[in-house]
Amino acid sequence: MPYPGKLIANGAVFIEDNRIIQVSRQSEIPTENDYDIIRVSQENCLLMPGLVNAHCHLELTEFADLCPVPGTVDFIDWIISVIAVKRATPTETFRTGLATGQQLLLESGTTCVGDLRSPEIFQSPGISPSILRAVHFLEIIGQDPRKQLQLLELLADKASIVPGKKPLIQSGIAPHSPYTVSLPLLKQLIIEAEKRKLPVTIHIGESVAEIRFFRDVQGPIAEKLYPYVGWQRFIPPAYGRDSLDVLLEKQIIHKLSAVHLGTARKDQLRQFVQLSIKPIICLRSNQTLGNPLPDLPAILDYNLSPSLGTDSLTSVNSLSLWDEMRFITRVFPSIPAISILTMATINGAAALGLENSIGKLEAGYEADLIAVQIKSPQRFPDLDELIKNTGNQDIKLVMVGGGIVRL
Ligand SMILES: [Zn+2]
Repeated sequence: MPYPGKLIANGAVFIEDNRIIQVSRQSEIPTENDYDIIRVSQENCLLMPGLVNAHCHLELTEFADLCPVPGTVDFIDWIISVIAVKRATPTETFRTGLATGQQLLLESGTTCVGDLRSPEIFQSPGISPSILRAVHFLEIIGQDPRKQLQLLELLADKASIVPGKKPLIQSGIAPHSPYTVSLPLLKQLIIEAEKRKLPVTIHIGESVAEIRFFRDVQGPIAEKLYPYVGWQRFIPPAYGRDSLDVLLEKQIIHKLSAVHLGTARKDQLRQFVQLSIKPIICLRSNQTLGNPLPDLPAILDYNLSPSLGTDSLTSVNSLSLWDEMRFITRVFPSIPAISILTMATINGAAALGLENSIGKLEAGYEADLIAVQIKSPQRFPDLDELIKNTGNQDIKLVMVGGGIVRL
């Protein structure tokens, strides 16, 4: 399946080094040269693009048991607990989480991740190299532009470590949210990212608390979160409208990926088209944290190419995009399987700025692919059944950049 919906019987992928040369029937692949052949021997195995998890916080992988069970406390109380746990946890725990998280992603057939990392982890020299493709987003939280913009120096350091050829890891910038980054800082971060041609991602419209904060400076963000982190002097004026209204009216956001959008209205989403804003959807995380779910059918109606993220194990019980896809089929049964698989592949690549190198199997693309054992007896798999039935045990091969990382 070179991309969702396109199926080739007895197919094969011809790869040289890290790149795909040809995708066709086996009989059409050149045989005159002495190439290695990897035969996925199980019957009814589907070769398809590796999945792209566009939003994750791998550094929190070991935090599941340290944070309150999602849904048992108010969302902002939960965020305050996560901050407290992060402050009290040694760097080693974050590092272990990165390694464990990568393994969990690979086991479930994810070959690329958009991974948000706090500055200490982003710059940590002891982090082992990534075995899957990743965009490491430097997560920025703060109010003072002069202080926070200095963090962008970390991006230059990281770029210099990368060897000559195109690396598996690229950098991006993640201003955390419109209520944890001041609007002047947010504006400057987006300008800086554009200068450096880096992707930007931001959590927006995740909670009702965010709306209350922007509308009338009330609710738990003003009353609990800001005092907890000592930001009382940064409390903004009441805007009388919600965060997305303000960001759109002030023309602060454009050409970025917006994560969550549970509170986004149709008229706001419609404006995303012109502004090249790509939604990233984390439905299970929204559900467990008691936050509203985004209007995914409207997002699809406006051709906004939504992609999928899992968020971290602090809010979901697995990093599997198959679980995420199954959840969509339950909540929005009218959305066809082909659209859901497109969200998990092509759209995820686009959300990370990698649309010309991954997300489908095509000549010239990076060889990031998986083989999935399918259970249906038909020659071609039914895509609804594929989403319904695929678990980790069905992932028979995982390849990243032409290298086999799981077989
Ligand atoms: Zn997140």
